[in-house]
Amino acid sequence: MEENKETNSHIHAVYLALGTNVGDRKSHLLCALKTLEKKGVRVVLRSNLYASKAYGYAEQDDFYNMVVGVLTDLPPFSLLKTLKEVERECGRCPTFHWGPREIDIDIILYGNLVLSDVDLTVPHPDFRNRDFVLRPLMEVGQMIVDPITGRTIEDLYRLLGKDTCVNAGSLDTAEEVSE
Ligand code: ADP
Ligand code: MG
Repeated sequence: MEENKETNSHIHAVYLALGTNVGDRKSHLLCALKTLEKKGVRVVLRSNLYASKAYGYAEQDDFYNMVVGVLTDLPPFSLLKTLKEVERECGRCPTFHWGPREIDIDIILYGNLVLSDVDLTVPHPDFRNRDFVLRPLMEVGQMIVDPITGRTIEDLYRLLGKDTCVNAGSLDTAEEVSE
């Protein structure tokens, strides 16, 4: 895959959305943040967790979603590859039967980059329709302007007019310290 040379060897501010609804959801999120750091993706901003109902099967656990602001020198496709590795490394939980939704990490915004490829679309093509992305994104990205619509995140959230997610507090940092 071709990388845009202009985006190489600079530090980029990137916003990632994390989601999980299977097994020990907080552990999956903690694992993801720790593994990102281990791979050189610096997690500098964390939103609260937001709980939202899963569509489809009612007996499924709620989703936990959060948004993090990271700094990375990885170009977009390398970052996507890294995120898939992190998903794989954090997707297995020995005490639970595991499925595809244990941990999902999406690139929402990558600086002001606009990119449309079969493997990667940035900004994330559906983020303006997801209150469970916009709500946590507002907490960590007050100054962000969507490079496609020119709107702030707060404007996008208001325009969407949907509020189905509930603030579930912060990811417990004590668990990280004790490791
Ligand atoms: P989803 O996130 O839609 O639930 P997956 O995590 O399996 O499903 O992602 C499917 C594919 O979406 C990935 O393999 C990736 O190539 C592609 N993709 C396109 N744009 C993005 C993006 N902005 N962030 C993450 N993945 C993306
Ligand atoms: Mg994904």
